[in-house]
Amino acid sequence: MPIRITKLKCPYCKSDLIEGFINSGRYSFKWHNKDVNFIEKYTVFGGEVLSENTIIKCFRCKDCNKVIIDLNEL
Ligand SMILES: [Zn+2]
Repeated sequence: MPIRITKLKCPYCKSDLIEGFINSGRYSFKWHNKDVNFIEKYTVFGGEVLSENTIIKCFRCKDCNKVIIDLNEL
């Protein structure tokens, strides 16, 4: 199957973005602020659930190795 290039451009380097998804395995995706305590950093406790889905759509730039996630389009 061919890779799907979108019309979206990378905001960092302006290369074409590739549409795809990332898969968390069996856990939901959670957000953690940078400066969290030890327990939140190294356990499953705490954090803000971004998506209960284990698969989320995203756009990848292979040139500068960035991934952009749109949580409104799961
Ligand atoms: Zn880029």
